Amino acid sequence: MGRRGCSNTRTPGNRYANTRLIPVPVPIAYDELGAVAVKGKSVGAEVFCPQCEAVGTLVFTGSWVERGVVVQEGGGGALIPQVWRVVLARCGRCRARLRVLPRELLAFKSFSLPVIEHLCGRYVDPDPQGPGLRRTVWSTGQYAPAHSTLWRWLAGLGERALDRWPGGRQGAAKRTSRACTRLPPVAALIAESARRLGQGFQALWQRHFRIPDWKHQSERRREQLEACARVLAAARRLFPEGPHPLCAWHGWLIDRFHVAAWAFPTGMPCTSLELPPPGSDALRSEAKSKPRKKGRCHEARAPPRSLLAF
Ligand SMILES: [Zn+2]
Repeated sequence: MGRRGCSNTRTPGNRYANTRLIPVPVPIAYDELGAVAVKGKSVGAEVFCPQCEAVGTLVFTGSWVERGVVVQEGGGGALIPQVWRVVLARCGRCRARLRVLPRELLAFKSFSLPVIEHLCGRYVDPDPQGPGLRRTVWSTGQYAPAHSTLWRWLAGLGERALDRWPGGRQGAAKRTSRACTRLPPVAALIAESARRLGQGFQALWQRHFRIPDWKHQSERRREQLEACARVLAAARRLFPEGPHPLCAWHGWLIDRFHVAAWAFPTGMPCTSLELPPPGSDALRSEAKSKPRKKGRCHEARAPPRSLLAF
């Protein structure tokens, strides 16, 4: 993948200054939200405004903005870009106009949660002959994210599952961090979820998840990948019937906590990008790829150029 432009900061939605606020998550799927979002109807009696934190003050406006999103075709097929209509709500107290995100969308991320879930799941597979970062993203066609984007997703979701939060970020990273710092601790999510399955779920959460050794070169990266594997396995335990268990769990938690429970920050300083050389057999690749960079990875990130017009 070549270097790609970025980012969310150039989307048309940003022309509307008062829609750059933290969006409001709802547990409803995109296909159903349009019918629910009737002008004047309450978003929910227990839903709070992320701007002023008043509860039950959000009302659908009947209007929407367009937003680019990359989704996966049915049956684990190629990724395709789409334009979705994101409905808006108005706060009756602070008058903020806010985007209402269906459960498939995470704030400030161009790829849908099912896509993130699918690619992270493929990468943290315990099979030692499983794909590396590049092979994982290349399997999803021309609109695949950069392999460094997948690396950041794994880091962000892993840190979220470990309840470790970054601070002091800039730009988009600062916004995503801000959107995440109000989230409940993961322990609260697990405790609530355990009520659905009982103690077996807590035991699953404590389980050790094996990640192939060649996929990490630092203790922190190993912890991140294990935490991702834990989240995805827990989701499959809770929602085994659907094609996107993490998305289903995310929606279930939104319904109870009224926040984007599994949102996670990206673009934060964490481990250096750990990657075997392109085209190498990862299992035989003992030589480490690139010289390590301090701090965050500087490679290009999603979305593809074709989405920048959104
Ligand atoms: Zn408000």
